[in-house]
Amino acid sequence: MDRENSPARSDSSPENETPHEVGWRFDNSYARLPELLYSRATALRFPGPRLIRLNSSLADDLGLDFRGMDETSLARIFSGQELPPGAEPIAQAYAGHQFGGFTMLGDGRALLLGEQLARDGRRFDIQLKGSGPTPYSRRGDGLAALGPMLREYIISEAMHGLGIPTTRSLAVVTTGAPVYRERTLRGAVLTRVAASHIRVGTFQFVAARRDESALRQLADYTIARHFPEIEQAGLPVEAKYLEFFNEVCRRQARLVSRWQMVGFVHGVMNTDNVSLAGETIDYGPCAFMDSYHAHTVFSSIDEQGRYSYGNQPAIAQWNLARFAESLIPLLAAQPEAAVEIAKESLHQFAADYQEEWLAGMRAKLGLTTPREGDRELVSLLLEWMQDSAVDFTNTFDDLSTRGEFVASPYHDSRFQGWLTSWRKRIGLEQRVFEEAQAMMRQVNPALIPRNHRVEEALAAAESDDLRPFNELLVALRLPFERTESLARFREPGPAGACYRTFCGT
Ligand code: AMP
Ligand code: MG
Repeated sequence: MDRENSPARSDSSPENETPHEVGWRFDNSYARLPELLYSRATALRFPGPRLIRLNSSLADDLGLDFRGMDETSLARIFSGQELPPGAEPIAQAYAGHQFGGFTMLGDGRALLLGEQLARDGRRFDIQLKGSGPTPYSRRGDGLAALGPMLREYIISEAMHGLGIPTTRSLAVVTTGAPVYRERTLRGAVLTRVAASHIRVGTFQFVAARRDESALRQLADYTIARHFPEIEQAGLPVEAKYLEFFNEVCRRQARLVSRWQMVGFVHGVMNTDNVSLAGETIDYGPCAFMDSYHAHTVFSSIDEQGRYSYGNQPAIAQWNLARFAESLIPLLAAQPEAAVEIAKESLHQFAADYQEEWLAGMRAKLGLTTPREGDRELVSLLLEWMQDSAVDFTNTFDDLSTRGEFVASPYHDSRFQGWLTSWRKRIGLEQRVFEEAQAMMRQVNPALIPRNHRVEEALAAAESDDLRPFNELLVALRLPFERTESLARFREPGPAGACYRTFCGT
């Protein structure tokens, strides 16, 4: 089996390359796993695919060069009408707890073309989303509309700009076919790039089928692909699978704490939307919050607030508990023993998350050496922010940029009191205030994809004006830059506006 870091199989040395070679180097290691994990599938025939967007800098990272290809050929490739050499398209099977209820699922509207091996040997899934029905489509049409695909493009690329692990977006193509939702919409296909599409739900699927041999193969595959250091440690088997579980937990702790630092609300943290590689995946009803409130929810169907901002860490732990359940046969000979072991790891997750969160918040406030009372200092700020409904991103930006004494536009005494404590606390660090602020500007973004700007870009794109979309993407590429020309991307939307996002579109 091939591994993420194994030496490249067929090095394309420069002398072998013709001038217009794109650089596809596909492997299909997932398609060599037990057959219950996927189905072979093909894309629907589309009447008139048209290229809307190609991410050239990502292509470059992948070792791909499309400059010798015309837009028609690109549109055919990125809508699945033509396959890159070496692609073996499959739809992956998985299950998932959706809003708490368990369902057998699978790629209902996606195709994994294969794994592109980049020049440095790294392996990336190349997946088409919106390419037509598969054996897992259930009652769905297998299609996607332009708006949501462009939305995933914007938010995933913004996450990447913020330095948060995420799937990426390589291309968007309109299909020329309509998609019927509440309205008739333009069909589109997004090309998604991921470390892999192995999810908690992938393990749940195999566990539900009670195929222990497949479960072990999937676990070994995932370890080799994403955690080669565990494989190399030469642990006894049960210890190896426990370390695997622990490492997945650590990556989730890190990931979710990073979301909290930028006010990102995923919106649909079902177990099928949890990537074991630790990337943010599946941008449906997600959004960044403007004014701070722990109960912030954007998804129109999340009436209970299950996936609200403040609930994300607890939900991550709940999802990891479901992952642990699916691993029970691998963790110990006796299920009871396995459950005890997993419980301990889940406690550790909570502790790790708290540590990641506090370290992240310290950095946001320009603090490096931990001190007693830091957690309270952060909590007091957040409580004030919530009560005052101030903008999350801009408050931290203000703290990072405004002078020490004329510190803020917020004049209430509660905030002034907090500011005094904060300044005192910074005084205990071995650096001057300006140095602390310079550090803060590295971690507190000036730019996030503001909901009204995203909607504006999507609305224009709908009527074939891609300028706002392109401008927004350029701005979001460097979210820590504080240039005057980008100021309009930093304003929150109209106060009190209740932003709603929709999934399954
Ligand atoms: P999501 O809420 O996007 O994570 O999707 C949940 C499940 O529904 C996944 O298995 C998707 O593949 C499937 N799905 C979503 N939209 C469609 C659609 N239009 N047609 C078929 N399957 C879909
Ligand atoms: Mg999903």
